[in-house]
Amino acid sequence: MIKLERTATALPAHGWQLLPLRFHRLDADLIVLTNLVGEHVFVTPGELSTVVDGTCADQELLARLRAAHLIQVPGETLPAELLAIKLRTRMQRLPDSTGLHIFVVTLRCEHTCRYCQVSRQSAAKNEFDMTEETAHRALELAFRSPSPQLKIEFQGGEPLLNFPSSAGSRPRPTG
Ligand code: SF4
Repeated sequence: MIKLERTATALPAHGWQLLPLRFHRLDADLIVLTNLVGEHVFVTPGELSTVVDGTCADQELLARLRAAHLIQVPGETLPAELLAIKLRTRMQRLPDSTGLHIFVVTLRCEHTCRYCQVSRQSAAKNEFDMTEETAHRALELAFRSPSPQLKIEFQGGEPLLNFPSSAGSRPRPTG
């Protein structure tokens, strides 16, 4: 049986380079380092200084930074490739834009739910309704989305109190 052992390779001073990262100070003694895909490591300001100037001797910290793709050994290509794969996966929905469009066709509602977060208006105040013209324009905008699937959600208030705009939110016949 072959026994595989993980050998810790100690990094010498200046034996690493920074990968793209952001830093944010959480308080006087704590900074969070994050990369493009959200991997993160917490460090103290002193630790960050030594990592940046290449004098860090804390091998455990350097190992964590390498594992989170925040630093790499010069000449290594795998960390950047892994980072690129993760970033592509994370961003792959962007070319399709959003498929979800929410139409708030009225703020009127005849209910008084205690948890309501809407600027609810009484059922008589139809000046808070979306006009049919606006509904058509909003729908045309939604259909410009390159997403292969569209989901249109009607919200309010009570959307059925403005049924003409809700019902009118469908493509106009052309020709
Ligand atoms: S808008 Fe919705 S949550 Fe608010 S009172 Fe009406 S039904 Fe309830």
